[in-house]
Amino acid sequence: MDGSELIRFDRVTKRFGDNTVLDDLDFSVSSGKHVTLIGPSGSGKTTILRLLMTLIKPDQGKIQVDGDCLTHEYRGGKMVEASEKHTREVRKKIGMVFQQFNLFPNMRVLRNITEAPVHVLGLSKDEAEERARELLDLVGLGDKCDAYPTQLSGGQQQRVAIARALAMRPQVMLLDEVTSALDPELVAGVLDVLRDIAHTTDITMLCVTHEMNFARDISDEVLMFDSGRVIEAGPPEKIFTEPEHERTREFLSAVL
Ligand code: ADP
Repeated sequence: MDGSELIRFDRVTKRFGDNTVLDDLDFSVSSGKHVTLIGPSGSGKTTILRLLMTLIKPDQGKIQVDGDCLTHEYRGGKMVEASEKHTREVRKKIGMVFQQFNLFPNMRVLRNITEAPVHVLGLSKDEAEERARELLDLVGLGDKCDAYPTQLSGGQQQRVAIARALAMRPQVMLLDEVTSALDPELVAGVLDVLRDIAHTTDITMLCVTHEMNFARDISDEVLMFDSGRVIEAGPPEKIFTEPEHERTREFLSAVL
């Protein structure tokens, strides 16, 4: 929690055809902070997370994670487009939880969590299992190690997905509308787990959410997006109680 910049977007533009989804966007997230992106559907929030996961590439601008550029690297004394290998190394610093939990259906819960630490980080099976059990306790599923994903509720599966992301010891967790695919009665359990993680660990979080109470509880900073730009940013007390921008007021009155 040293306050250094962990994520930095520097004049990032992303277009899909004629649609400019992110428009010369600058923003940063400091180490240990919890930043939430809010704004109307289609305003570019998920695109930011997908750029960080290198699922898509920006048309212009630079994206840095912990001082390493995700999009470019120095090779032969020159700044060139990042290679797959470079991108993979930088991406190891990032964990992501998706709307759809994306667990491996043919693997038991414990193995869902140990698979990447063993194969990507090179942990021994024993080390990975010990850590996986701790994480399952953290998300309240210590008794589900041997279950298959289909034997769990959506909320439980999402909590396994959270444990799986944490097992890679990422420096930053990206959370993309993690409760939007859940039945309403399962939402609170997942949000409680995330609140707990936000309040008891020093992990940096970048969340996209429509759950405004959750955003208010966990965020150090809230960024209001509209048409690919940050139109207003500030601590949750400010954004939710005295927003300055008319678009923010309209958005909040529609969702709160
Ligand atoms: P939000 O998360 O704020 O709802 P998104 O980042 O998902 O917004 O989408 C922003 C805009 O980008 C939308 O207009 C969406 O239709 C468009 N978009 C996103 N992904 C693609 C894609 N792969 N191809 C074309 N358009 C896309």
